[in-house]
Amino acid sequence: MRIVGIETSCDECGVAVVEDGRRILSNVVATQIEFHKPYSGVVPEIASRKHVEWIADVYLKALDEAGVAQESLDAVAVVNRPGLVGALVVGVAFAKALAYGLGKPLVAVDHIKAHLYAPLMEFDIPYPFLGLLLSGGHTVIAEVRSYDEFRVLGTTIDDACGEAFDKVAKHYGWGYPGGVVIDRLARKGIPEACAFPDPSLHKGRHRYDVSYSGLKTAAIHQLDQFWNPEYPRTDENLAAAFQKAAIDMILRRLELAVEDTGIRRIVVGGGVAANSYLRNALGARSDWHVFFPSLPLCGDNGAMVAGIAYHYAREGKFAALDLDVHARVEAFKPYAGT
Ligand code: ATP
Ligand code: MG
Ligand code: FE
Repeated sequence: MRIVGIETSCDECGVAVVEDGRRILSNVVATQIEFHKPYSGVVPEIASRKHVEWIADVYLKALDEAGVAQESLDAVAVVNRPGLVGALVVGVAFAKALAYGLGKPLVAVDHIKAHLYAPLMEFDIPYPFLGLLLSGGHTVIAEVRSYDEFRVLGTTIDDACGEAFDKVAKHYGWGYPGGVVIDRLARKGIPEACAFPDPSLHKGRHRYDVSYSGLKTAAIHQLDQFWNPEYPRTDENLAAAFQKAAIDMILRRLELAVEDTGIRRIVVGGGVAANSYLRNALGARSDWHVFFPSLPLCGDNGAMVAGIAYHYAREGKFAALDLDVHARVEAFKPYAGT
């Protein structure tokens, strides 16, 4: 089954053609980074306008690179949540027109579920596993029972992991996107230069939760309190210390989740999955079986959308042409059963 996947939830305009949920025939991602860079963050109206300008070209390029005719597509998949509403609307309207015009079914995809599906396109990973989703808008540890069944164990109570990277980098004028710049700066820094505290939420139902707002504030306003005076206060040292604190915080919760569930298979997804400190730290865990998406599948892309859509399509779970878009996530409603 050949599916086209469309992603316009934020600032990447992505279209991909994927066969049978895994075989990526093309994966075109047109990033708007340069248009949002002057604002050190995504400007929603610019995002929508660029998607509306680009979507048809990106679609045609994806067909061309895949070497397939659009008549040979079996379904049209699109992200309809979560994300910027004005950006989602562009992809969804385009997908509806395409599905209607081609006479093919439409599949609605949750962006967060798609992020955690990405590594399953590259590796054979049996369920259940612990999903670690770290992105610009979300931070989740979940027990994943199938491509569509998640039990949320932990989440952030305030800022998302990637958001914290972005906000700290923005404050210091390091560049955009913040995660990428901090990762680069941190390679030349000393993580021990600053010992940021880990908020102790880990009690009761908050056992697996994290809070990034406090870390962000500490990295911006409280360096005097936490800096080790033996080290110079350089951007590199600060980036390395912040990155270590941000990643270690979520890894400590993951460790608890592994202990409690007995599940040692970990699947990582989302833009922060590209982070080199995270990859090294998890890569060093020989007692766990950790799967990362390859770099092109960490950030937003259409391939993960077309990939997961295969499973919905196989089960006949199609969307109607009055499909709406939603800013908020649906992926992590607790499911029935244990
Ligand atoms: P969501 O997926 O929650 O809707 P999003 O789609 O905007 O949000 P992604 O595109 O998945 O998020 O990821 C973007 C985030 O990843 C940004 O916050 C960015 O700073 C972060 N990021 C990208 N590369 C790295 C890296 N190497 N280290 C840390 N963070 C990174
Ligand atoms: Mg993006
Ligand atoms: Fe994303």
